[in-house]
Amino acid sequence: MDASAAVGSGPVVVAGAGYAGLHVALRLTARLRGGPETELVLVDRHDYHQVLTELPRVAGGTRAAGAVRIPLQDVLAERVRFVLTEINGFDLPGRWLLTAGGPIGWRRLVLALGSRPNDFAIPGLAQRALSLYSASDAERVWAAVNKALMAAAAAAGPERQRRLATVVVGGAGATGVELAGELAEVLPEVASRHGLTPGRHAVLLVEAGPTILAGSSPQLIVKATRILGDLGVQVRTNAAIAAATEEGFRLTDGGLVEGGVFVWAGGVKAPDLVADSELPTGHNGRVKVDQYLRVLDHPDIYVAGDLASVTDPRTGHVLPPLAQVALEEGETVARNLAAELNGRPLQALTFHDKGFVVSVGTRRGVADIAGITTGGHLAHLLKDAIEWEYRQSVKHLRGWDPVAR
Ligand SMILES: Cc1cc2nc3c(=O)[nH]c(=O)nc-3n(C[C@H](O)[C@H](O)[C@H](O)COP(=O)(O)OP(=O)(O)OC[C@H]3O[C@@H](n4cnc5c(N)ncnc54)[C@H](O)[C@@H]3O)c2cc1C
Repeated sequence: MDASAAVGSGPVVVAGAGYAGLHVALRLTARLRGGPETELVLVDRHDYHQVLTELPRVAGGTRAAGAVRIPLQDVLAERVRFVLTEINGFDLPGRWLLTAGGPIGWRRLVLALGSRPNDFAIPGLAQRALSLYSASDAERVWAAVNKALMAAAAAAGPERQRRLATVVVGGAGATGVELAGELAEVLPEVASRHGLTPGRHAVLLVEAGPTILAGSSPQLIVKATRILGDLGVQVRTNAAIAAATEEGFRLTDGGLVEGGVFVWAGGVKAPDLVADSELPTGHNGRVKVDQYLRVLDHPDIYVAGDLASVTDPRTGHVLPPLAQVALEEGETVARNLAAELNGRPLQALTFHDKGFVVSVGTRRGVADIAGITTGGHLAHLLKDAIEWEYRQSVKHLRGWDPVAR
């Protein structure tokens, strides 16, 4: 039997050009080189890929938003047809991706739509707090910080100045810690530029759980806490937010956290359009898949990245929403699509944990790699190196396709 006939006709459609989706498109192009002619379509609402891991730097004004948007036309091979449109839903029985530009039929669909900020239905949070999930979000945070410090400089009385010049970050996971550290490092300079009296600005990190960076090793948490302390970040753990009001974050114990800028980095969930579909979903709306990353009961649909709910058989835990996981899942999906198209057997995902690195401020960081914890300048260099290597890999993958040269 012709292998490609076994998977039907029509294009392979990749929904989402983030870490997972872009990786699938680039790797599949390389894998199909010289193989059966297969139409490959990549769909995204933006014509650029966003390097989300660098957003805290944009929010802290140390990197331009444009620098974290990689134009897709610079990295995609010619055989990938890119469609710039908003995806609105799915017709699963008919195999149609429903978009603002009209339906797109699939032979195989790869869902790689990432995450959305999760406000856990806390009243007022979505309206009153900024989020950090795109380059535009990060620009908004940086603009709000500048506006608040300017307003603080012009305000009467030290108390009012202090309130306006306080940035409150909700959620002390990796994103919250990176953002708080980055802001604490740059705020003194920004405050002085706006003419604010020294010592009036502050960064508060508010966390519902008993620790920052939950799930990390105790050594890493100690090192990160120490660096945050050095930077003057005020960390409040066991402080669950009950509501975001005009006065600030109201905590479940009745306390009030006041400030001039509020950012929510307390968690992510699957995009609503997936929750509204008939796809089988689990924790935080992520789509349940088999070991080959195909949706349960929908073998024509693969899921990769934050959207996939994948249990690591070695730990029994669902893999976290991280870029390194998205890339490995993208690799598995590209390999399995190529296998299907070439009539070969599928391979299960095996995740190789490369470790955990978090920047804390503009010069220091913490890292847990192969059981060794480091903190300080070296860990920050490591983070820089990972981001540099990622950007290189995107360019390099394009280079694998002769059509693209
Ligand atoms: C501030 C921040 C810092 C982070 N730092 C790290 C880090 O240091 N290390 C790490 O490993 N991970 C980090 N992460 C997590 C990492 O960025 C994600 O795990 C990764 O982006 C997931 O990749 P993905 O392909 O699933 O989704 P994404 O990269 O988010 O891509 C999803 C794509 O789908 C598109 N899309 C979504 N909905 C639609 C729609 N309806 N129509 C059209 N297009 C759509 C989006 O435009 C986007 O291009 C960080 C995340 C954030 C927000």
